[in-house]
Amino acid sequence: MHRIYLDNNATTPLLPEVFQAMRPYFGEHFGNASSIHHHGQQTRAAVENARDSVAALLGCRALEIVFTSGGTEADNLAIAGLVAAGDHVITSSIEHHAVLLAFKHLEDIGVDVTVLPVDGRGLVDPADVRRALRPNTKLISVMMANNETGVLQPVEEIGKIAAEAGVCFHTDAVQAAGKVAIDVKQIACHALSISGHKLHAPQGVGALYVRKGTGLRPLFYGGRHERSRRAGTENVPGIVGLGKAAKIAKDALDRGEDKMMADMRNRLQQGVLAQVGEAGVNGDGAARVPNTTNIHFDHIDGEAMVIALDLKGVAVSTGAACSSGAIEPSHVLIAMGLRPDQARASIRFSLGKQTVAEDIDYALALVSETVARLRELSPKYTKQTVSTER
Ligand code: PLP
Repeated sequence: MHRIYLDNNATTPLLPEVFQAMRPYFGEHFGNASSIHHHGQQTRAAVENARDSVAALLGCRALEIVFTSGGTEADNLAIAGLVAAGDHVITSSIEHHAVLLAFKHLEDIGVDVTVLPVDGRGLVDPADVRRALRPNTKLISVMMANNETGVLQPVEEIGKIAAEAGVCFHTDAVQAAGKVAIDVKQIACHALSISGHKLHAPQGVGALYVRKGTGLRPLFYGGRHERSRRAGTENVPGIVGLGKAAKIAKDALDRGEDKMMADMRNRLQQGVLAQVGEAGVNGDGAARVPNTTNIHFDHIDGEAMVIALDLKGVAVSTGAACSSGAIEPSHVLIAMGLRPDQARASIRFSLGKQTVAEDIDYALALVSETVARLRELSPKYTKQTVSTER
């Protein structure tokens, strides 16, 4: 069966060039990057080369990059590493669970957590951030791009507020890295998380940018790897893959390829809205990463839609991959004010570097046909409102 993958916010396929770059580090270049002999020197050089590429993608210095096992660890390291009992922190209601549940744990050990709302577009109001500041506020953590809607948060404004207040600012940029240009100096953040598998590098590797001079307690205790910020023998093939993917992403952004991605996404979105009635874009009116659109198709069940599309070879998602299977509607869409039935009827389409125009045409034809069929089957749906029958 011809398969089209439009779930790149869940994970992206490894680019062949990335796999080629990694391959020697599974074989002949096997050394421990901490060893002083030839084998160690070879892998150390590869790790440091990757660090340079990741730093170039984020606009920082190589020594400010800490390699981790992924986005979840990067978020947890930033949060647990910067905050202690008695501190106050500010975050938002639409964060990934890697952030929200890390804060929940800190609440149990005596940290005060303010969770800010978002508006109907899914945006945090920087004025709310300012109002939430307290004398003991230690950290603000607001994501750069939301994984479900792709909505970009006003991180530069929040960074300014944090700087004026002398508070640390962390941003989860897992869904932004490689999709939009990032410059940590513009954002004025102290920490920024990225994950390899969201930018065509392998799963199980990520990085945390930590601004030089920022005191960060490690999550793991052990060797003095990563300048004592992350103990554990480096995942050399993974890190090499992340470095190669970061370089490819940076070059593509410099060539303006994000605009082509946005064109394809917009064509899909506009096509769907033109063909299907009682549907709308979640996060419409806000700036979004170029690869994502999240659409609510009223009167359908999102899970049924995902299964129906999958049977025809198109992979999409109802929201965050980690919570699919859960009965609860997406916390992100609910925070944006969607009714639970609308949140459950929402589908995320996320494009990747491998997506081509034909994929969009195929998905477009299938989506309108599938929505019409599911609505026909729904006892709650009145037939005359099916737009394709108008
Ligand atoms: N943060 C965001 C916004 C994400 O979308 C994800 C993954 O879905 C993560 C963090 C976690 O990253 P990882 O899967 O690398 O642990």
